Amino acid sequence: MVGYIDFHRRSIEDREGFWRDQSRLVDWQQTPQTICDYSRPPFVKWFVGGTTNLCHNAVDRHAAARPRDPALIYVSTETDTERTYSYADLLCEVERMAAIFIELGVKRGDRVLIYMPMIPEACFAMLACARIGAVHSVVFGGFAPASLATRIDDARPVLMISADAGMRGGKAIPYKHLVDDACRLAEHPPAHVLIVDRGIDKGFARTEGRDVDYAEMRRKHVDAAVPVEWLESSEPSYILYTSGTTGKPKGVQRDTGGYCVALAASMQHLFTGGPGETMFVTSDIGWVVGHSYIIYAPLIAGMATVMYEGTPIRPDAGVWWRIVEKYRVNVMFSAPTAIRVLKKQDTAWLHSCDLSSLKHLFLAGEPLDETTHRWIAEELDIPVIDNYWQTETGWPILSAMPGIEKTPIKYGSPSFPVYGYDLRLFREDGSECGANEKGVVGIVPPLPPGCMTTVWGQDDRFVSTYFSLFKDPLVYSSSDWGIRDDDGYYTILGRMDDVINVAGHRLGTREIEEAVQTHPGVAEVAVVGVADDVKGQVPMAFAVLKDAGAAATPEEAKRLEAEISRKVDEWLGAIGRPARVFFVSGLPKTRSGKMLRRAIQALAEGRDPGDLATIEDPSTLQQIRDRLSETREG
Ligand code: ATP
Ligand code: MG
Repeated sequence: MVGYIDFHRRSIEDREGFWRDQSRLVDWQQTPQTICDYSRPPFVKWFVGGTTNLCHNAVDRHAAARPRDPALIYVSTETDTERTYSYADLLCEVERMAAIFIELGVKRGDRVLIYMPMIPEACFAMLACARIGAVHSVVFGGFAPASLATRIDDARPVLMISADAGMRGGKAIPYKHLVDDACRLAEHPPAHVLIVDRGIDKGFARTEGRDVDYAEMRRKHVDAAVPVEWLESSEPSYILYTSGTTGKPKGVQRDTGGYCVALAASMQHLFTGGPGETMFVTSDIGWVVGHSYIIYAPLIAGMATVMYEGTPIRPDAGVWWRIVEKYRVNVMFSAPTAIRVLKKQDTAWLHSCDLSSLKHLFLAGEPLDETTHRWIAEELDIPVIDNYWQTETGWPILSAMPGIEKTPIKYGSPSFPVYGYDLRLFREDGSECGANEKGVVGIVPPLPPGCMTTVWGQDDRFVSTYFSLFKDPLVYSSSDWGIRDDDGYYTILGRMDDVINVAGHRLGTREIEEAVQTHPGVAEVAVVGVADDVKGQVPMAFAVLKDAGAAATPEEAKRLEAEISRKVDEWLGAIGRPARVFFVSGLPKTRSGKMLRRAIQALAEGRDPGDLATIEDPSTLQQIRDRLSETREG
């Protein structure tokens, strides 16, 4: 068996041969002529001349071979619904949806905007687009009308599909009026809005001539047979806007063939799932993890995929583990932020379920601190694999790859560069870092299959945003900051513009957060750099305690602050010691669970936090304001 090192080396040194082999994991109507066309750097085309279809690979081929096998397992703890769709059922629903789209005028290459809660129809809609060669753009359901409108104007969809309402924590979130407002705000609203009426928001308004009822259309197309449209490998499959943590979201454009091959390969080498197995990914279809690993990859691999609507702790903190037990989940994928939520709960929830089917838990999206990593790995007693990636790449950049070699896991590290990625760390002058030296995480192009091919409609922005860090060499910049140890294990230290510069020493926010988190009372923390006349910048920490009452009095808070400072001294040295540690009950995050450090920093420096359309809970900002003003007054 080939080990990780040889596998990775071949993917870089014999790119063509390596990816030709991987391309055999998917069905092609016409086999590719050229594996990699890199004649126009940094743009790359994979599997040129090959024609294929994502929906065929995800649905049709399995429906033909194993029609009764489960494909989509839908679980909603919001509406108390559970339903399993076989591959044959899924194909039938996708064909109906495709027929509806065609009737509403959607053609190959047209965009369809999907603004949906986590319901099966969202999955049907994505696959129906893929089937007919339409380009989907999924926008996280519940985004404010202004955010939705900017995405409408950028993607210019001919059709939008939505629902009357989403649900979260038992509360209805009406969507339809947000859709109406967004269509009013947009300069290029879609001709039609297809509405899935869940019966949650009874009295939503309908616009005559524009709004179309899904149930009615579905009845019309009971026996729809819609053949797949064979697409050239480079034709776009979808547009997905980045989370917008660092500013204006970018429309990431993905191809068809490269994405299909990258996902199929990742299921074999990295996530290790195949026919007869079940995957449970707790993300949302509005994010890249949802696109790749709730919908496309597990289905391409012939697995059953669990689509979950609800939170990790409702009706109780055992809900996810019961899903694992009931559906014999083999591969689970979640986010550090969810695990930190579960860490605050009783571990009996986890231990009362039979989790013996579970092979691996994958986590991605945010730095996974060592303490949380160790905790969940020890409780589950299986490998917990941190993987680092971006909307831009569509699949992991750094990860352990148990399908290739069972390399030991180091807590706090997403292990090694994934095959296909020529990943390096760079100094500011473009030279390469050595071991144990912090630098910018860069990828020497061409980017592997599955990664973004351009920014939708803005080739120049693709080059200026991602390939302009150095004049020479030409490198894809991740805008993240990382380090590699003597054994080749990487750690992501934070985003480049979050680096804290204390008296000339550059510290990643992650390093200080990691140190604060070694204090057993801390559940979660955000560290930001705050302007300081003497030192340039000083770190400031905002911590959530496991026991909120532990810092109820000013004396207790002072004592805890001193203890935490000592932890940082031990772990990192006095240079990283926070100027202040404030205690709050929650931290400002995007709806995808990413820390809004920029907003915290702005408040700490007495500035306006700016546009926060993507914030999950605005009251977290008010708390930070309050804490800061208490000290200013005191
Ligand atoms: P925008 O680019 O619009 O500001 P965003 O970067 O938050 O948004 P995503 O593409 O969803 O949008 O997030 C990718 C980023 O998340 C990475 O660049 C990195 O900063 C962080 N990240 C993802 N996975 C990990 C991980 N395993 N460890 C550390 N950081 C991670
Ligand atoms: Mg980003």
